[in-house]
Amino acid sequence: MFEAFWRETGDAAEIVIPGWQTMSYFSDVTNVCWFLEPGFDHEVRRLHRLVGNAAVDGYHVLVGTGSTQLFMAALYALSPPGADEPMSVVSTAPYYSSYPAVTDFLQSGLFKWAGDANAFNGDTYIELVCSPNNPDGSIREAVLASETGKAVHDLAYYWPQYTPITRRADHDIMLFTVSKSTGHAGTRIGWALVKDRGIAQKMTKFIELNTIGVSKDSQLRAAKVLKAVSDGYELAAEGKQGHHHHRLFDFGRRKMVERWSMLREAAAASGIFSLPEETSDYCNFTKEMAATNPAFAWLRCDREDVEDCASFLRTHKILTRSGSQFGADPRYVRVSMLDRDEAYDIFIKRLASLK
Ligand code: PMP
Repeated sequence: MFEAFWRETGDAAEIVIPGWQTMSYFSDVTNVCWFLEPGFDHEVRRLHRLVGNAAVDGYHVLVGTGSTQLFMAALYALSPPGADEPMSVVSTAPYYSSYPAVTDFLQSGLFKWAGDANAFNGDTYIELVCSPNNPDGSIREAVLASETGKAVHDLAYYWPQYTPITRRADHDIMLFTVSKSTGHAGTRIGWALVKDRGIAQKMTKFIELNTIGVSKDSQLRAAKVLKAVSDGYELAAEGKQGHHHHRLFDFGRRKMVERWSMLREAAAASGIFSLPEETSDYCNFTKEMAATNPAFAWLRCDREDVEDCASFLRTHKILTRSGSQFGADPRYVRVSMLDRDEAYDIFIKRLASLK
């Protein structure tokens, strides 16, 4: 979806890297995260200050190969070594399907997946809080509270194209990614904002042992992309010509509003699907009311004879992910709202025709 935007930005998000540059493992040996490119750190902080979605003062910025690597680093950092039992990792269902998959794939002795946070009994845990939530777009808070419990806030979708920005988030560990903010999933760059220095050091250690740092080339590209986003607003505000139409969040919100309206119409035309209620709130970034426009549609098939919605849709050439992968009922599926226009239009036509 974002490709159309970036095609229009000219050289604002382009970089050239001569052969002799970015050769070292190191970026800034005085920083806790010694492989973090200072230019990327700068643009991350600048963008959060512009959007107002997360606090950055007093936080360490850590870079990861996608926020996926930082998620693993957080599990490592929050699980004490030598404990009797692996740390329980939980999240309210429906939860992002990678959480259980990534948590358990190496069968670590440090942590293990323990399912739905609402069904968890105990004081020691890591709760993953995804808000707006993948797959259903809901706005979430931690549901567990204890002295020894820890939370990781995955704020991948807490950007103005998806949801009104209602507060400056200031949790202990917050994860973000260019995959969802700008659409550059292939650059494989995510970042964490971490309050505690000790935790930031442990997370950095994980990335050191896992991949000896994070591609500098990708960090430079991500920095340039984030810079183009901030410039689109700040240079326009200063009255410089030529930048006013390159406003990513305006583009993103316009697209998402249009797509959600098409989807609701198609579901109504079909008569056999239901979708989450639309909610709205005042957005501190745009200074106007805005609806939530989730990056995924959490679609329920209401037809009595359809127990497995993903299989039903597959027979009609619509590929989705089953609710069962998110700890939920297979009558639900998750549909991506971020494909290219052509694919999205075909999806809408096919969905509307189902009876
Ligand atoms: N968190 C959530 C909630 C996501 O939906 C995704 C991507 N699907 C990620 C993290 C992974 O992001 P990245 O590409 O940065 O690894």
